[in-house]
Amino acid sequence: MRERNIDLRSDTVTLPKPEMIEAIAKASLGDDIMKEDATVNELEKKAAELLGMEDAILTISGTMANQAAIMSFVQRGQEVIVGDQSHIYNLEGAAMAAIAQVQARPVTVMEGYFDPGVVERAISIRDIQKAGTGLISLENTYNLNDGQIVSLENMKEMKELGKSYGIPVYLDGARIFNAAVELGKKPSELCSQVDAVQFCLTKGLGCPLGSVLAGSKEFIREAKVNRQRIGGGMRQAGIIAAPGIYALDHMIGRLAEDNRKASYIARKLAMIEGVSVNEVQTNIISLRINEMDLLADDLIFFLKQKNIKVKKIGEKQIRMIVHYLISKEDLEYVLLCIKEIMAVQKKGRLKVQGRV
Ligand SMILES: *Cc1c(COP(=O)(O)O)cnc(C)c1O
Repeated sequence: MRERNIDLRSDTVTLPKPEMIEAIAKASLGDDIMKEDATVNELEKKAAELLGMEDAILTISGTMANQAAIMSFVQRGQEVIVGDQSHIYNLEGAAMAAIAQVQARPVTVMEGYFDPGVVERAISIRDIQKAGTGLISLENTYNLNDGQIVSLENMKEMKELGKSYGIPVYLDGARIFNAAVELGKKPSELCSQVDAVQFCLTKGLGCPLGSVLAGSKEFIREAKVNRQRIGGGMRQAGIIAAPGIYALDHMIGRLAEDNRKASYIARKLAMIEGVSVNEVQTNIISLRINEMDLLADDLIFFLKQKNIKVKKIGEKQIRMIVHYLISKEDLEYVLLCIKEIMAVQKKGRLKVQGRV
């Protein structure tokens, strides 16, 4: 049994590195609403360059960036095309409806592929009865529980489609760098297919707080107003930006390692009798239990006894996300534990908590 917790519930569970804390202590600060926080200004400039966009703003969260983007692109009462497994549609407290006052038009996205035919059929042309589509919203990596990569070619198809209808294309790129390193493409190349993008500093990049929203100068001017409207105007926000600068300098390249570890362990997990595993493309593994009498809650309970934390995503499904604190040895240990649990279960010897 390991002393240390192996926390695979998300890549958001990481605590800031000592280098990040040091960067905060050294940061030059000021009032960001007055544009006087030099550290924020530096992060925004750096991020815009990295993404190949004209300008960028720091937000408190990815949700705030997404909603400020929607409010900036879309009129009240218009529709936004979203993937049915997207974060915007599923995990933002229905902010699209409640705050931005727009209607979601979800489409099925299979294996991270936004089918141009499906998306085109979902486009609404405004008339007396129809709302009109104001935005096509992509997500890369796609699907909270699978982390699939949307290919550059597919993003190009979406750009073309948007262009032919005069509809802007947005990218929720919370984990865009996981996709970029895997594709061997520059983030700016992927982002050249969209009008605006946000990425999270808090996922694989390991920061305690923050996201960056980037786009044209005009878009960012508008987004700043909308960020203010939802309480996102900040003062000495350099304390958020300083770890962000560190992350952009040091944490992007190494994401390839997380992706590699995840696919390595997923292949091994898939060999265990009684479970199946998604095709891992980035750092997200979802494992389905095929054994009749074992539920996700049971597996979570037994893993917890071994100091391993995973996330329940269905009655018989758990999720594990690899991040920089997870070593290959940790994953070998997790593999061993799951193997052991499944073997004991197979012999009918597993005492399931509270349901015998
Ligand atoms: C995490 C995440 C967000 C939102 O980020 P928060 O900072 O948690 O608000 C948005 N989209 C995707 C795909 C995410 O994974």
